[in-house]
Amino acid sequence: MINQCHCPICKAPASKGCSHLAVAAEGRDFVRRCVELAHAEIPWRVLCRQRKAGEWPHEPQDFTWLETAFCEEFLKPLSSYEGMEHEWRSGPKLSQGGFWVLLWSRSPQHLWWELREEIEGKSLRVPVRAEAAPWLIWLNPR
Ligand SMILES: [Zn+2]
Repeated sequence: MINQCHCPICKAPASKGCSHLAVAAEGRDFVRRCVELAHAEIPWRVLCRQRKAGEWPHEPQDFTWLETAFCEEFLKPLSSYEGMEHEWRSGPKLSQGGFWVLLWSRSPQHLWWELREEIEGKSLRVPVRAEAAPWLIWLNPR
């Protein structure tokens, strides 16, 4: 199965890597790459721990690895989010091919800033125990 995605903004083929391609990553790496690019590793860990602890019992667990769940919750609300697509990319051998996830934005840098704020906001929204208080100051210097 071969499919070639095109940029929803300038119509360039994804393989050309135009400036609107915020990230292209293999499906299993996608969420981690997004968190890295947003420099949001610390609030992300806080968020994941809070949810695993069952403080948000209605939340599905799979958002930590499933790109569609992550996209629904964290990317789609962002104003610079332009779209997410899957593209089949072949490796050196046929068996090494896999689905890559492409994320589009008019301004990828802005998208990462927004994503960081989104993750920080969500990680701070749940009541935090007293011993976690220094994190708040550290995470939110404003
Ligand atoms: Zn483009």
